[in-house]
Amino acid sequence: MTEPNQRHESSPVETLKQPLQGKTHLPVSASRLETLLQNLPGMAYRCLNRAHWPMDFVSDGCVELCGYHRFEIENQSVLWGDFTHPEDIQEVERKVKAAANRQQPFEVEYRIITKDGTQKWVWERGRVVDIRDDGIAVLEGFITDITDRKLSEAASIHANAFAQAVVDSAIEAVITVDNQGRIESFNHAAQNMFDFLPEEVIGNQCRTLIPATDSREFDQFFKHCLSHFRPILQGKKTSIGREINGNKKMGAVFPAHLTISPVQDEIETKYLLLVRDLTEQKATEKEARDQRELLAHADRLNTLGEMTAGIAHEINQPLTAISMYANSGLGFLDRSPANLGRAREALNKLSEQAHRAGAIIERMQQMTRPRDSKQEIVHCEPLIREVHKLAEVEAQSRNFIIVLDLPSALPKVRCDPIQIQQVILNLLRNGMESMESAASIREHEIILSVKVVELSGDKRLKVSIIDKGPGISDQIAKQLYQPFTTTKSSGMGLGLSISRSIIFAHDGILEFTNNPSKGATFYFTLPALSTVNDLGTNED
Ligand code: ADP
Repeated sequence: MTEPNQRHESSPVETLKQPLQGKTHLPVSASRLETLLQNLPGMAYRCLNRAHWPMDFVSDGCVELCGYHRFEIENQSVLWGDFTHPEDIQEVERKVKAAANRQQPFEVEYRIITKDGTQKWVWERGRVVDIRDDGIAVLEGFITDITDRKLSEAASIHANAFAQAVVDSAIEAVITVDNQGRIESFNHAAQNMFDFLPEEVIGNQCRTLIPATDSREFDQFFKHCLSHFRPILQGKKTSIGREINGNKKMGAVFPAHLTISPVQDEIETKYLLLVRDLTEQKATEKEARDQRELLAHADRLNTLGEMTAGIAHEINQPLTAISMYANSGLGFLDRSPANLGRAREALNKLSEQAHRAGAIIERMQQMTRPRDSKQEIVHCEPLIREVHKLAEVEAQSRNFIIVLDLPSALPKVRCDPIQIQQVILNLLRNGMESMESAASIREHEIILSVKVVELSGDKRLKVSIIDKGPGISDQIAKQLYQPFTTTKSSGMGLGLSISRSIIFAHDGILEFTNNPSKGATFYFTLPALSTVNDLGTNED
C-alpha cells in the first residue's frame, strides 16, 4: 500500500515540463501553465482516490478557495476530506468512487469549511488519470468556488417559491399560456375552479377550458388580444377583459370573467389569464333583479291604480263614439237602405274606435303583467311619443299640459321599453303631484325634454322631466332614492328607488337638480347604441 504522503507522480506542472513522447511539437511551458492556473478562479489538484483524498499537487488558488497554503495541503498535514462538509462527504465519496470505477469524469457540488470556519459551496470536476500498481486511482481535477451562484440560486428558488405561494393563494384562477394559447401553468384556484389537475391541462390549448360551442368566438378574442397587445407591449401595462363561460372537467358550464394581460420576459411574451368565477355574483344579481321586478310590478299596479280615472275617461271616449257610430249606422239603414255608403262610413269609424279602446286595454295588460326585464334595440322617438301619449291621459284629467321637446334625429338605445316608459311616467307623475302640492300659484305645464349629450366621450340619450313645483328640500334630498321615502299621504316611496335601479341596470344614471327659478328637473341618461363595440370587450 502506498502511504498518502509518499509522492509517486511528478506534479502536472513538472509532467508538462517533459517533452511528450513521440510528439514533435513544443510542450506548454511550465511557467505558462503556472500563470494560467494562477489566473483561474479556483484550484487545480492531483490526489489519490483514498479516504479524504490526500493531494500531492494543488495550484495557488487553494489559499483563496479554502484558506490553507499550498504546502499545508501538498505535505498532507491537512487532507481535502478534512474540511469537506461532514453532511456532504459521503455523497461526494460515492459519486467519485462510482465515476472512478467506470473510468469516467465526475462532477460534484458540495460544501467545504474553510480554514477560518466559513462555509463555501464548491464545484469540482475530475477524472482518473492513472491507476497505481496497488490499484489506487490517481485523480486530477479542478475545484472552484460557486458560493455566489448557490446563494443566488437559493434566493431565486426562494423568490419563485414565494411568487408561487402568492399565485397559489390567489382566489382567481391564474393561468399562463404561450403565444399559441397553450397552457403553461395552472394555479390552485384554477384547479378548484375547473376541476382539472395541472398535468391534465398543461400543454393543452386554453380553449379547452371553455365550452366547445364558444371556442370559435374565443379564438377570435384571443387573436384580437394578441394583435392589440403587440404594438403597446413596450412599457405600457395593458389588459383586456370580458365575460366568458368556463367549462369544468365534467362538462358543467359556469359564468366567469376573464382578463388577459401580456407578460414579457427576456426571451418571449407569455399571457396571463385571470379567471374569476361569477356564479355567486350572477346569482346575487339575479336575486336583486327578481326583487326589482317584483317591486317594479307592485309599483306598476300602483301606477295603474292612480291612472284608473284617466284611463276610464280615455276608454269611455271611444266607447261613447262606438255606440254613437253604431246608432247612426243603424239610423242610416232604417231611414233608407240607399244610405249604405254613409252606414259603411259610420261602421268604419266604429271599428277604428273599437281598435283604439282595444289598444288602451292592451297597454294596460302589458303594464300589469309580471315580466322579466327584456332589453332590445329600440328607436327613441316612438318610445318617447308613446309614453307621452300615455301620460297625457293622466295629465288631462289633472289639468296639466305635457310639453314635449323632442329633436328630430335621435339614436337607438338598448333598453327594456316598458321599464323606461315606467320611469318616465313615474317622474312625470311626481312632477305633476309636486305642482299640485305647491301652495303658491298653480302651474300647469311640465316639460318632457329629450337630448343627445356627450359624457366622457360617449354619446348618451338624456331624458329630463322639468317641473315648476317647490323643488326638493335638502332634508328630502339626503334620502330621496331610499325605498319608502315619501312626503305624500298615499305615497309608497318606491318610485324613485325603483326608477334609479332600472336606469342603473341600463348602464345609465338618474339624478335631479333644483331649477334656478322654480321646481326640479329629474333626468336620466342611457348609452346611445353606437358606443358598444363588436366584441363586447372593455379595453384599457
Ligand atoms: P312617492 O311618489 O310614492 O312618494 P317616490 O320615490 O317617487 O315615491 O318619491 C319620493 C319622494 O320624493 C316624494 O314623496 C317627494 O317628496 C319627493 N319628490 C319626488 N319627485 C319630486 C319632484 N319632482 N318635486 C318635489 N319632490 C319630489
